[in-house]
Amino acid sequence: MINASGYAAYSSTTALKPYSFERRDPGPKDVVIDIEYCGVCHSDIHQVRDEWGGSIFPMVPGHEIVGTVSAVGKEVTRLKPGDTAGVGVMVDSCRECASCKRGLEQYCEKGMVGTYGAKDRRGDITYGGYSDVIVTDEHFVYAISPKLNKPAVAPLLCAGITTYSPLKHWEVGRGRKVGVVGLGGLGHMGLKFAHSLGAHVVQFTTSSSKTKDAMRLGADEVVLSNDPDAMAKQKASFDFILDTVSAQHDISPYLSMLKLDGTLVMVGLPEKPVALPSMAMCVPRRSIAGSGIGGVPETQEMLDYCAEHNIVSDVEVIPIQQINEAFERVLKSDVKYRFVIDMASLREQ
Ligand code: NAP
Ligand code: ZN
Ligand code: ZN
Repeated sequence: MINASGYAAYSSTTALKPYSFERRDPGPKDVVIDIEYCGVCHSDIHQVRDEWGGSIFPMVPGHEIVGTVSAVGKEVTRLKPGDTAGVGVMVDSCRECASCKRGLEQYCEKGMVGTYGAKDRRGDITYGGYSDVIVTDEHFVYAISPKLNKPAVAPLLCAGITTYSPLKHWEVGRGRKVGVVGLGGLGHMGLKFAHSLGAHVVQFTTSSSKTKDAMRLGADEVVLSNDPDAMAKQKASFDFILDTVSAQHDISPYLSMLKLDGTLVMVGLPEKPVALPSMAMCVPRRSIAGSGIGGVPETQEMLDYCAEHNIVSDVEVIPIQQINEAFERVLKSDVKYRFVIDMASLREQ
């Protein structure tokens, strides 16, 4: 076994603290990665606080992992020691069902194995990226261009793919008017991608302090969602709106902003369900949809797109000792725009 150390939540109500555990010895298809950076996703907070139910403790969160390959099993072909590599939200799936065969492992009919807080196919509990080393099957390890800034790449593994995938699926591009709701980790990546794909992008935010940044990040317009007059002006004009809000909120204003046959895609996963405004959905005909991360081929495509277009996340790099304060700041929408843990700090305790 490989000795690993990291930070874990021991219960849903206590602060994260240091934790030592073991990783499996690498099998023939495994890649061993020395973790250098790990992004802090709002899903980490939902799960640490058991807001979705079923959390397993102790929990080592983290599914936006970037590091350097230190060893590979003898059947590994795509990666070699010294390569920069990443691991995202999943570390396994059945590989046989219709979804897996389409490269949509996140929708595996038998259930994908989450990078942390899940039971893998051996029955072992998975531990995530708030730690110094991970052993992952090559299929779920991504190659990362050395051109990209390492800490700023980490959030692409979840926030990046979760916004890229629906934008591609619903064919967002030139000539489309697109809204992004919430300027957090996911939101700022959705904004960057929608802008890069050529859409006219309107950023919705509750935080007036983020207006200038939204323009810098690629917004054509910024609307304060707590300003009813500004909201009213956007009526029935959007082809597509991506809602990244992490908390319960009223979606009727956004639904009313869609044109006939427009789509509101919800990627936020609040603890409590949002209400469905039936009338605004029926007249005119509008759709509400959801989307979960992205499959392995699309995640690699997104990373390659980012290398080609020089897209990374805007990050605040923190030592792991500040993780509990970082969670509190995320809950106050006070992060520009993703915390990323520098794992070198683990060795400093
Ligand atoms: P985040 O960084 O905290 O961003 C969420 C943003 O939502 C905040 O920055 C804030 O933006 C806005 N917001 C927060 N509370 C609000 C409220 N009460 N009313 C209106 N707006 C509010 O979170 P994240 O990491 O981007 O994650 C967002 C959500 O997506 C989480 O629920 C997460 O679990 C989920 N998620 C889903 C997937 C998936 O596969 N579907 C993948 C990853 C994450 P402003 O300050 O601009 O208003
Ligand atoms: Zn995430
Ligand atoms: Zn499957």
